[in-house]
Amino acid sequence: MDLNDTPEQAEFRARAREWIAAHAAESPPPATHFHAADPAPYREWQAKLAKAGLVGVTWPAEFGGAGLGPAEQMIANTELAAAGCATIVDHIAIGELGPTIIAYGSDEQKDRYLAPMLEGSAGWCQLFSEPAAGSDLAGIVTKARRGGDGWVIDGQKVWTTMAQFADFGLLLARTDPSLPKHRGLTMFVVDMHAPGVTVRPLRQITGASGFNEVFFDGVELPEDATVGPVDAGWQVAMTTLMFERMAVLAALDQMPFAPEDFVMGVLDHPGLDDGRVKQVLAEITAEVTGLQFTAYRALSALGAGGIPGPEAGLGKIGLIESGVKGAQLLTELLGPDALEGEWGELLCEMQGLRSGGGTDEILRNTIGERVLGLPPEPRVDKGVPFEQLVGGAARNGAEEVVA
Ligand SMILES: Cc1cc2nc3c(=O)[nH]c(=O)nc-3n(C[C@H](O)[C@H](O)[C@H](O)COP(=O)(O)OP(=O)(O)OC[C@H]3O[C@@H](n4cnc5c(N)ncnc54)[C@H](O)[C@@H]3O)c2cc1C
Repeated sequence: MDLNDTPEQAEFRARAREWIAAHAAESPPPATHFHAADPAPYREWQAKLAKAGLVGVTWPAEFGGAGLGPAEQMIANTELAAAGCATIVDHIAIGELGPTIIAYGSDEQKDRYLAPMLEGSAGWCQLFSEPAAGSDLAGIVTKARRGGDGWVIDGQKVWTTMAQFADFGLLLARTDPSLPKHRGLTMFVVDMHAPGVTVRPLRQITGASGFNEVFFDGVELPEDATVGPVDAGWQVAMTTLMFERMAVLAALDQMPFAPEDFVMGVLDHPGLDDGRVKQVLAEITAEVTGLQFTAYRALSALGAGGIPGPEAGLGKIGLIESGVKGAQLLTELLGPDALEGEWGELLCEMQGLRSGGGTDEILRNTIGERVLGLPPEPRVDKGVPFEQLVGGAARNGAEEVVA
Protein backbone atom coordinates (compact mmCIF):
# COMPACT_ATOMS: atom_id res chain seq x y z
CA MET A 1 0.00 0.00 0.00
CA ASP A 2 1.33 3.44 -0.95
CA LEU A 3 0.41 5.98 1.72
CA ASN A 4 1.38 8.98 -0.36
CA ASP A 5 -1.30 10.89 -2.24
CA THR A 6 -1.60 9.98 -5.89
CA PRO A 7 -1.00 13.02 -8.14
CA GLU A 8 -4.80 13.42 -8.44
CA GLN A 9 -5.25 13.19 -4.65
CA ALA A 10 -2.43 15.70 -4.10
CA GLU A 11 -4.19 18.07 -6.47
CA PHE A 12 -7.52 17.52 -4.63
CA ARG A 13 -5.79 18.15 -1.28
CA ALA A 14 -4.19 21.36 -2.56
CA ARG A 15 -7.54 22.61 -3.87
CA ALA A 16 -9.25 21.70 -0.59
CA ARG A 17 -6.55 23.47 1.44
CA GLU A 18 -6.78 26.58 -0.68
CA TRP A 19 -10.58 26.77 -0.36
CA ILE A 20 -10.46 26.08 3.39
CA ALA A 21 -7.81 28.76 3.96
CA ALA A 22 -10.01 31.29 2.16
CA HIS A 23 -13.23 30.32 3.97
CA ALA A 24 -12.17 29.03 7.42
CA ALA A 25 -13.41 32.19 9.11
CA GLU A 26 -16.97 31.36 7.96
CA SER A 27 -16.98 28.03 9.82
CA PRO A 28 -18.95 27.76 13.06
CA PRO A 29 -16.83 26.48 15.96
CA PRO A 30 -16.47 22.67 15.77
CA ALA A 31 -19.42 21.09 17.62
CA THR A 32 -18.59 19.76 21.08
CA HIS A 33 -17.47 16.19 20.81
CA PHE A 34 -20.62 14.77 19.28
CA HIS A 35 -23.59 17.12 19.14
CA ALA A 36 -24.79 20.46 17.98
CA ALA A 37 -27.58 21.91 20.12
CA ASP A 38 -28.59 24.01 17.10
CA PRO A 39 -27.68 22.52 13.72
CA ALA A 40 -28.59 25.67 11.70
CA PRO A 41 -25.07 27.22 11.51
CA TYR A 42 -23.59 23.82 10.71
CA ARG A 43 -26.08 23.30 7.88
CA GLU A 44 -25.22 26.74 6.44
CA TRP A 45 -21.57 25.72 6.55
CA GLN A 46 -22.47 22.38 4.95
CA ALA A 47 -24.08 24.23 2.01
CA LYS A 48 -20.78 26.04 1.39
CA LEU A 49 -18.78 22.84 1.73
CA ALA A 50 -21.13 21.12 -0.72
CA LYS A 51 -20.63 23.87 -3.31
CA ALA A 52 -16.87 23.50 -2.85
CA GLY A 53 -17.08 19.72 -3.36
CA LEU A 54 -15.86 18.94 0.18
CA VAL A 55 -18.96 17.15 1.42
CA GLY A 56 -20.61 14.21 -0.34
CA VAL A 57 -17.25 13.70 -2.03
CA THR A 58 -18.14 10.08 -2.88
CA TRP A 59 -21.59 10.98 -4.30
CA PRO A 60 -21.77 10.79 -8.10
CA ALA A 61 -21.43 14.16 -9.84
CA GLU A 62 -24.96 13.86 -11.30
CA PHE A 63 -26.34 14.12 -7.73
CA GLY A 64 -24.13 17.06 -6.74
CA GLY A 65 -21.19 15.08 -5.35
CA ALA A 66 -17.56 15.14 -6.43
CA GLY A 67 -17.66 11.61 -7.88
CA LEU A 68 -14.44 10.68 -6.05
CA GLY A 69 -13.49 7.89 -3.64
CA PRO A 70 -13.55 7.51 0.16
CA ALA A 71 -9.84 8.41 0.33
CA GLU A 72 -10.68 11.86 -1.05
CA GLN A 73 -13.50 12.23 1.51
CA MET A 74 -10.96 11.42 4.20
CA ILE A 75 -8.59 14.05 2.75
CA ALA A 76 -11.36 16.68 2.89
CA ASN A 77 -12.26 15.72 6.49
CA THR A 78 -8.62 15.76 7.58
CA GLU A 79 -7.94 19.16 6.02
CA LEU A 80 -11.06 20.67 7.61
CA ALA A 81 -10.10 19.30 11.03
CA ALA A 82 -6.49 20.49 10.64
CA ALA A 83 -7.72 24.02 9.94
CA GLY A 84 -9.93 23.94 13.06
CA CYS A 85 -13.13 24.05 10.96
CA ALA A 86 -16.38 22.30 11.79
CA THR A 87 -17.22 19.13 9.97
CA ILE A 88 -20.87 18.45 9.17
CA VAL A 89 -23.49 17.38 11.70
CA ASP A 90 -25.70 15.56 9.16
CA HIS A 91 -23.10 12.85 8.71
CA ILE A 92 -25.62 9.98 8.85
CA ALA A 93 -27.58 11.58 6.01
CA ILE A 94 -24.58 12.29 3.81
CA GLY A 95 -22.62 9.15 4.65
CA GLU A 96 -25.43 6.58 4.67
CA LEU A 97 -28.94 7.71 3.78
CA GLY A 98 -28.13 9.68 0.61
CA PRO A 99 -26.02 6.82 -0.81
CA THR A 100 -28.89 4.40 -0.02
CA ILE A 101 -31.35 6.59 -1.96
CA ILE A 102 -28.82 6.82 -4.80
CA ALA A 103 -28.63 3.00 -4.83
CA TYR A 104 -32.34 2.16 -4.40
CA GLY A 105 -34.44 5.33 -4.79
CA SER A 106 -36.68 6.10 -7.76
CA ASP A 107 -35.65 8.91 -10.14
CA GLU A 108 -38.35 11.08 -8.58
CA GLN A 109 -36.95 10.44 -5.06
CA LYS A 110 -33.41 11.25 -6.21
CA ASP A 111 -34.58 14.52 -7.83
CA ARG A 112 -36.62 15.50 -4.82
CA TYR A 113 -34.44 14.57 -1.87
CA LEU A 114 -30.73 14.46 -2.71
CA ALA A 115 -29.87 18.13 -3.43
CA PRO A 116 -31.56 19.53 -0.25
CA MET A 117 -29.93 16.75 1.78
CA LEU A 118 -26.47 17.57 0.43
CA GLU A 119 -26.89 21.32 0.94
CA GLY A 120 -28.28 20.87 4.45
CA SER A 121 -31.61 22.57 3.69
CA ALA A 122 -33.45 19.34 4.67
CA GLY A 123 -32.38 17.30 7.70
CA TRP A 124 -32.71 13.51 7.75
CA CYS A 125 -32.67 10.74 10.34
CA GLN A 126 -32.26 6.95 10.29
CA LEU A 127 -35.33 5.17 11.70
CA PHE A 128 -34.08 1.59 12.10
CA SER A 129 -33.58 0.65 15.80
CA GLU A 130 -36.51 -0.11 18.10
CA PRO A 131 -36.79 -0.77 21.85
CA ALA A 132 -36.62 -4.54 21.25
CA ALA A 133 -34.64 -4.58 18.00
CA GLY A 134 -31.14 -3.14 17.85
CA SER A 135 -28.47 -5.79 17.38
CA ASP A 136 -31.26 -8.03 16.11
CA LEU A 137 -32.45 -5.40 13.65
CA ALA A 138 -34.49 -7.90 11.63
CA GLY A 139 -36.73 -8.25 14.73
CA ILE A 140 -38.38 -4.85 14.20
CA VAL A 141 -42.13 -4.70 14.74
CA THR A 142 -43.10 -1.25 13.45
CA LYS A 143 -45.86 -2.09 10.98
CA ALA A 144 -46.66 -0.69 7.55
CA ARG A 145 -50.04 -1.78 6.17
CA ARG A 146 -51.90 -0.83 3.04
CA GLY A 147 -54.33 2.02 3.73
CA GLY A 148 -55.14 5.66 2.96
CA ASP A 149 -53.56 6.58 -0.39
CA GLY A 150 -50.74 4.10 0.11
CA TRP A 151 -49.43 2.97 3.48
CA VAL A 152 -50.17 3.47 7.18
CA ILE A 153 -47.37 3.23 9.77
CA ASP A 154 -47.76 2.30 13.45
CA GLY A 155 -44.92 1.66 15.88
CA GLN A 156 -41.94 3.12 17.68
CA LYS A 157 -38.28 3.75 16.96
CA VAL A 158 -35.58 4.72 19.43
CA TRP A 159 -32.00 6.03 19.48
CA THR A 160 -32.85 8.14 16.43
CA THR A 161 -29.98 10.61 16.07
CA MET A 162 -31.01 14.18 15.16
CA ALA A 163 -34.69 13.23 14.70
CA GLN A 164 -35.68 16.43 16.54
CA PHE A 165 -34.08 18.41 13.70
CA ALA A 166 -35.12 16.13 10.82
CA ASP A 167 -37.51 16.86 7.98
CA PHE A 168 -37.39 13.32 6.60
CA GLY A 169 -36.49 9.87 7.84
CA LEU A 170 -35.55 6.58 6.23
CA LEU A 171 -37.77 4.06 8.00
CA LEU A 172 -37.57 0.26 8.10
CA ALA A 173 -40.97 -1.31 8.75
CA ARG A 174 -42.55 -4.77 8.66
CA THR A 175 -44.91 -5.20 5.74
CA ASP A 176 -45.48 -8.98 5.86
CA PRO A 177 -45.17 -10.84 9.22
CA SER A 178 -46.04 -14.15 7.54
CA LEU A 179 -42.53 -14.20 6.01
CA PRO A 180 -39.30 -15.08 7.90
CA LYS A 181 -37.96 -12.10 9.81
CA HIS A 182 -35.36 -10.92 7.30
CA ARG A 183 -38.00 -10.87 4.58
CA GLY A 184 -41.30 -9.01 4.77
CA LEU A 185 -39.53 -5.73 5.60
CA THR A 186 -39.76 -2.59 3.48
CA MET A 187 -37.88 0.73 3.50
CA PHE A 188 -39.83 4.01 3.35
CA VAL A 189 -39.21 7.74 3.26
CA VAL A 190 -41.24 9.43 6.00
CA ASP A 191 -42.08 13.10 6.26
CA MET A 192 -41.18 13.83 9.89
CA HIS A 193 -43.74 16.66 9.98
CA ALA A 194 -46.63 14.36 8.96
CA PRO A 195 -49.60 14.03 11.36
CA GLY A 196 -49.06 11.13 13.79
CA VAL A 197 -45.25 11.47 14.06
CA THR A 198 -44.11 12.34 17.60
CA VAL A 199 -40.45 12.95 18.41
CA ARG A 200 -39.27 12.91 22.03
CA PRO A 201 -35.63 13.83 22.67
CA LEU A 202 -33.82 11.60 25.20
CA ARG A 203 -31.61 13.38 27.69
CA GLN A 204 -28.21 11.74 28.10
CA ILE A 205 -25.87 11.72 31.09
CA THR A 206 -23.96 14.67 29.54
CA GLY A 207 -27.18 16.73 29.49
CA ALA A 208 -27.25 16.72 25.67
CA SER A 209 -29.98 15.10 23.57
CA GLY A 210 -28.22 13.49 20.65
CA PHE A 211 -30.98 10.99 19.99
CA ASN A 212 -34.73 10.54 20.36
CA GLU A 213 -37.71 8.25 20.65
CA VAL A 214 -39.99 8.51 17.61
CA PHE A 215 -43.62 7.33 17.67
CA PHE A 216 -45.78 6.60 14.60
CA ASP A 217 -49.48 6.62 15.22
CA GLY A 218 -51.45 5.90 12.03
CA VAL A 219 -49.01 7.91 9.90
CA GLU A 220 -50.14 7.92 6.27
CA LEU A 221 -47.55 7.66 3.54
CA PRO A 222 -48.10 7.90 -0.21
CA GLU A 223 -47.79 4.80 -2.38
CA ASP A 224 -44.45 5.99 -3.78
CA ALA A 225 -42.83 6.37 -0.33
CA THR A 226 -41.15 2.95 -0.64
CA VAL A 227 -37.39 2.85 -1.28
CA GLY A 228 -36.52 -0.32 -3.15
CA PRO A 229 -38.92 -3.24 -3.63
CA VAL A 230 -41.72 -4.03 -1.16
CA ASP A 231 -40.69 -6.82 1.27
CA ALA A 232 -37.00 -6.45 0.27
CA GLY A 233 -36.14 -3.79 2.85
CA TRP A 234 -33.46 -5.94 4.48
CA GLN A 235 -31.20 -5.64 1.43
CA VAL A 236 -31.78 -1.87 1.44
CA ALA A 237 -30.95 -1.69 5.17
CA MET A 238 -27.78 -3.74 4.62
CA THR A 239 -26.71 -1.25 1.97
CA THR A 240 -27.20 1.58 4.48
CA LEU A 241 -25.09 -0.31 7.04
CA MET A 242 -22.39 -0.98 4.44
CA PHE A 243 -22.15 2.77 3.81
CA GLU A 244 -22.03 3.26 7.59
CA ARG A 245 -18.92 1.06 7.71
CA MET A 246 -17.36 3.10 4.93
CA ALA A 247 -18.16 6.35 6.78
CA VAL A 248 -16.58 4.95 9.97
CA LEU A 249 -13.40 4.17 8.06
CA ALA A 250 -13.23 7.63 6.48
CA ALA A 251 -13.70 9.20 9.94
CA LEU A 252 -11.01 7.14 11.70
CA ASP A 253 -8.45 9.82 10.95
CA GLN A 254 -10.20 12.53 12.93
CA MET A 255 -12.23 10.98 15.70
CA PRO A 256 -13.11 13.26 18.63
CA PHE A 257 -9.69 12.74 20.18
CA ALA A 258 -6.11 12.29 19.07
CA PRO A 259 -3.61 10.42 21.26
CA GLU A 260 -1.61 13.63 21.71
CA ASP A 261 -4.70 15.33 23.21
CA PHE A 262 -4.33 13.14 26.27
CA VAL A 263 -0.65 13.98 26.64
CA MET A 264 -1.31 17.70 26.20
CA GLY A 265 -4.06 17.47 28.84
CA VAL A 266 -1.51 16.56 31.52
CA LEU A 267 1.68 18.09 30.12
CA ASP A 268 2.38 20.09 33.30
CA HIS A 269 1.00 17.49 35.68
CA PRO A 270 3.51 15.66 37.93
CA GLY A 271 1.59 12.45 37.17
CA LEU A 272 3.15 12.42 33.71
CA ASP A 273 6.44 11.28 35.34
CA ASP A 274 4.70 8.10 36.51
CA GLY A 275 5.86 5.10 34.48
CA ARG A 276 2.37 3.55 34.40
CA VAL A 277 0.86 6.74 33.02
CA LYS A 278 3.51 6.92 30.30
CA GLN A 279 2.87 3.26 29.52
CA VAL A 280 -0.89 3.82 29.04
CA LEU A 281 -0.33 6.91 26.89
CA ALA A 282 2.16 5.00 24.74
CA GLU A 283 -0.30 2.10 24.38
CA ILE A 284 -3.07 4.46 23.24
CA THR A 285 -0.77 6.11 20.72
CA ALA A 286 0.36 2.76 19.30
CA GLU A 287 -3.20 1.39 19.12
CA VAL A 288 -4.74 4.46 17.50
CA THR A 289 -1.89 4.80 15.00
CA GLY A 290 -2.24 1.11 14.10
CA LEU A 291 -5.98 1.56 13.58
CA GLN A 292 -5.50 4.60 11.40
CA PHE A 293 -3.18 2.64 9.13
CA THR A 294 -5.67 -0.23 9.06
CA ALA A 295 -8.26 2.32 7.91
CA TYR A 296 -5.92 3.64 5.19
CA ARG A 297 -5.38 0.08 3.99
CA ALA A 298 -9.11 -0.61 3.93
CA LEU A 299 -9.79 2.67 2.11
CA SER A 300 -7.12 1.81 -0.48
CA ALA A 301 -8.90 -1.51 -1.06
CA LEU A 302 -12.23 0.30 -1.39
CA GLY A 303 -10.71 2.73 -3.90
CA ALA A 304 -9.67 -0.34 -5.92
CA GLY A 305 -13.29 -1.54 -6.05
CA GLY A 306 -13.53 -3.62 -2.82
CA ILE A 307 -16.43 -3.49 -0.37
CA PRO A 308 -16.06 -2.45 3.28
CA GLY A 309 -15.15 -5.46 5.42
CA PRO A 310 -14.88 -6.01 9.17
CA GLU A 311 -11.94 -3.55 9.51
CA ALA A 312 -14.42 -0.77 10.29
CA GLY A 313 -15.74 -2.81 13.24
CA LEU A 314 -12.23 -3.42 14.46
CA GLY A 315 -11.47 0.29 14.11
CA LYS A 316 -14.56 1.29 16.03
CA ILE A 317 -13.94 -1.12 18.91
CA GLY A 318 -10.27 -0.07 19.15
CA LEU A 319 -10.89 3.66 19.01
CA ILE A 320 -13.56 3.52 21.66
CA GLU A 321 -11.37 1.37 23.93
CA SER A 322 -8.54 3.89 23.50
CA GLY A 323 -10.79 6.90 24.05
CA VAL A 324 -12.25 5.42 27.23
CA LYS A 325 -8.78 4.43 28.46
CA GLY A 326 -7.36 7.92 27.82
CA ALA A 327 -10.29 9.83 29.29
CA GLN A 328 -10.32 7.53 32.31
CA LEU A 329 -6.60 8.08 32.89
CA LEU A 330 -6.95 11.84 32.69
CA THR A 331 -9.94 12.02 34.99
CA GLU A 332 -8.07 9.86 37.51
CA LEU A 333 -5.04 12.16 37.32
CA LEU A 334 -6.88 15.47 37.30
CA GLY A 335 -9.48 14.50 39.88
CA PRO A 336 -13.28 14.76 39.98
CA ASP A 337 -13.32 18.28 38.48
CA ALA A 338 -12.19 16.79 35.18
CA LEU A 339 -15.51 14.97 34.96
CA GLU A 340 -17.25 18.32 34.44
CA GLY A 341 -15.21 19.18 31.38
CA GLU A 342 -14.33 17.68 28.03
CA TRP A 343 -12.73 14.54 29.50
CA GLY A 344 -15.87 13.69 31.44
CA GLU A 345 -17.93 14.28 28.31
CA LEU A 346 -15.63 12.10 26.25
CA LEU A 347 -15.78 9.35 28.86
CA CYS A 348 -19.59 9.33 28.95
CA GLU A 349 -20.08 9.61 25.19
CA MET A 350 -17.57 6.91 24.40
CA GLN A 351 -19.38 4.46 26.67
CA GLY A 352 -22.59 5.12 24.72
CA LEU A 353 -20.82 4.74 21.41
CA ARG A 354 -20.03 1.15 22.38
CA SER A 355 -23.61 0.51 21.21
CA GLY A 356 -23.99 2.88 18.25
CA GLY A 357 -23.19 1.40 14.83
CA GLY A 358 -23.04 -2.14 16.23
CA THR A 359 -22.17 -3.15 19.80
CA ASP A 360 -18.71 -4.42 20.77
CA GLU A 361 -20.05 -7.96 21.12
CA ILE A 362 -21.79 -7.99 17.74
CA LEU A 363 -18.73 -6.54 16.00
CA ARG A 364 -16.53 -9.11 17.73
CA ASN A 365 -18.90 -11.85 16.56
CA THR A 366 -18.55 -10.57 12.99
CA ILE A 367 -14.77 -10.46 13.25
CA GLY A 368 -14.80 -13.96 14.77
CA GLU A 369 -16.93 -15.38 11.96
CA ARG A 370 -15.61 -13.49 8.95
CA VAL A 371 -11.95 -12.93 9.82
CA LEU A 372 -11.03 -15.75 12.19
CA GLY A 373 -13.32 -18.35 10.61
CA LEU A 374 -14.98 -19.28 13.93
CA PRO A 375 -18.31 -21.16 13.78
CA PRO A 376 -21.34 -18.87 13.34
CA GLU A 377 -23.82 -18.21 16.14
CA PRO A 378 -26.80 -20.61 16.12
CA ARG A 379 -29.73 -18.96 14.31
CA VAL A 380 -32.80 -20.85 15.50
CA ASP A 381 -35.25 -18.41 13.93
CA LYS A 382 -33.89 -18.87 10.41
CA GLY A 383 -36.70 -19.52 7.93
CA VAL A 384 -39.48 -19.32 10.57
CA PRO A 385 -42.36 -16.93 9.72
CA PHE A 386 -41.91 -13.81 11.90
CA GLU A 387 -45.44 -14.07 13.31
CA GLN A 388 -44.60 -17.52 14.73
CA LEU A 389 -41.57 -16.31 16.69
CA VAL A 390 -41.87 -15.73 20.43
CA GLY A 391 -42.64 -12.02 20.78
CA GLY A 392 -42.96 -11.48 17.04
CA ALA A 393 -46.51 -12.82 17.07
CA ALA A 394 -47.68 -10.91 20.13
CA ARG A 395 -46.21 -7.70 18.82
CA ASN A 396 -47.92 -8.15 15.48
CA GLY A 397 -51.32 -8.90 16.88
CA ALA A 398 -51.32 -12.60 15.91
CA GLU A 399 -51.59 -15.62 18.17
CA GLU A 400 -48.20 -16.45 19.67
CA VAL A 401 -46.56 -19.75 18.81
CA VAL A 402 -43.36 -20.93 20.47
CA ALA A 403 -40.92 -21.80 17.70
C1 LIG B 1 -24.99 7.34 19.97
C2 LIG B 1 -25.94 6.42 19.27
C3 LIG B 1 -26.60 6.84 18.14
C4 LIG B 1 -27.49 5.99 17.48
N1 LIG B 1 -28.15 6.44 16.38
C5 LIG B 1 -29.06 5.65 15.76
C6 LIG B 1 -29.84 6.16 14.68
O1 LIG B 1 -29.71 7.30 14.27
N2 LIG B 1 -30.75 5.34 14.11
C7 LIG B 1 -30.95 4.05 14.52
O2 LIG B 1 -31.78 3.37 13.94
N3 LIG B 1 -30.24 3.55 15.58
C8 LIG B 1 -29.31 4.33 16.20
N4 LIG B 1 -28.59 3.84 17.29
C9 LIG B 1 -28.92 2.50 17.79
C10 LIG B 1 -27.85 1.46 17.61
O3 LIG B 1 -27.83 1.00 16.28
C11 LIG B 1 -28.17 0.36 18.62
O4 LIG B 1 -27.87 0.87 19.91
C12 LIG B 1 -27.38 -0.89 18.40
O5 LIG B 1 -27.79 -1.54 17.23
C13 LIG B 1 -27.55 -1.88 19.60
O6 LIG B 1 -28.88 -2.16 19.83
P1 LIG B 1 -29.53 -2.02 21.29
O7 LIG B 1 -29.13 -0.69 21.83
O8 LIG B 1 -30.98 -2.33 21.14
O9 LIG B 1 -28.80 -3.11 22.17
P2 LIG B 1 -29.16 -4.67 22.25
O10 LIG B 1 -29.16 -5.24 20.88
O11 LIG B 1 -30.39 -4.86 23.07
O12 LIG B 1 -27.91 -5.23 23.04
C14 LIG B 1 -27.82 -5.15 24.46
C15 LIG B 1 -26.54 -5.89 24.87
O13 LIG B 1 -26.66 -7.29 24.50
C16 LIG B 1 -25.57 -7.66 23.68
N5 LIG B 1 -25.98 -8.61 22.64
C17 LIG B 1 -27.10 -8.54 21.87
N6 LIG B 1 -27.13 -9.57 20.99
C18 LIG B 1 -26.00 -10.29 21.20
C19 LIG B 1 -25.45 -11.46 20.60
N7 LIG B 1 -26.08 -12.09 19.60
N8 LIG B 1 -24.26 -11.92 21.07
C20 LIG B 1 -23.61 -11.29 22.08
N9 LIG B 1 -24.08 -10.17 22.68
C21 LIG B 1 -25.25 -9.67 22.26
C22 LIG B 1 -25.10 -6.36 23.03
O14 LIG B 1 -23.75 -6.44 22.60
C23 LIG B 1 -25.30 -5.35 24.17
O15 LIG B 1 -24.22 -5.39 25.06
C24 LIG B 1 -27.70 4.67 17.97
C25 LIG B 1 -27.05 4.26 19.13
C26 LIG B 1 -26.17 5.11 19.78
C27 LIG B 1 -25.50 4.64 21.02
